Amino acid sequence: MAFLTPRERRTVEAFAEVFIEGDAEVLEPGQVAQNVEAHVSAMRSKRIRSLHVLLWAIEYLLPLTVLRPRFSRLPPAARKRLIERRITGPRAILRSLSKLRVLFLAGYYDDPRVQADIGVHRTRAVESLRLAPLAVRPPGADEHTIEADFCVIGSGAGGAVIACHAARAGRSVVLVEEGPQVRGKQMSGRENAMSALLYKESGLQSTVDFGMSVLRGACSAARR
Ligand SMILES: Cc1cc2nc3c(=O)[nH]c(=O)nc-3n(C[C@H](O)[C@H](O)[C@H](O)COP(=O)(O)OP(=O)(O)OC[C@H]3O[C@@H](n4cnc5c(N)ncnc54)[C@H](O)[C@@H]3O)c2cc1C
Repeated sequence: MAFLTPRERRTVEAFAEVFIEGDAEVLEPGQVAQNVEAHVSAMRSKRIRSLHVLLWAIEYLLPLTVLRPRFSRLPPAARKRLIERRITGPRAILRSLSKLRVLFLAGYYDDPRVQADIGVHRTRAVESLRLAPLAVRPPGADEHTIEADFCVIGSGAGGAVIACHAARAGRSVVLVEEGPQVRGKQMSGRENAMSALLYKESGLQSTVDFGMSVLRGACSAARR
């Protein structure tokens, strides 16, 4: 099921049309909206629901500040002025919405057609690194206690190394990870898909005032 309603999709297209600009844009606003839709649909974060409220505010509240009824029905020049004054400009009231800007920029620049146009060369596919799956043993239904020498919380750069050294030293280790287990074949090297899959809250964590992104990984993977 689509994340964006038809009305929200119109707002996204109208926003993308004037926000992504250049001499020769490779994508139509509808194609940027399609990429935004795919990106947000892949996100695993409750915060993504606030995008509905935000798009509603852009469509109906933002134009009220210039006494106009709806964002998507404004002429392009008026939409562009509104975005600059209220969202991106130095005195904009919604300037802290850094995530919104990133969403639109990623919707454009993560597209293979755009990357071919601007000469982005892809690195070798991560699946060729032969990531081996971790042997995960979920606890049984009536298993309330697991005995081990060590319990390591988090399978990140620190925890994974500690768990590995402890196991190699002959200790039994329980490694607890809150993120999903990611396999090599899921590693596409595409920024939108990977940030949605690998980052805590799919990359949506930010400071309380939304001014800065707080990027943290949350997953487990193993490499041979
Ligand atoms: C976008 C980005 C790019 C980076 N690039 C580089 C780089 O190029 N070179 C470099 O040296 N460093 C880089 N870093 C920094 C590096 O990733 C971190 O310094 C390093 O991962 C920190 O290791 P850590 O073990 O402390 O935490 P993490 O690697 O973040 O691991 C913490 C793990 O614990 C899990 N966890 C947290 N809380 C719980 C809980 N309550 N229960 C269960 N599991 C939990 C998380 O899901 C996560 O998997 C980068 C970081 C980011 C975000």
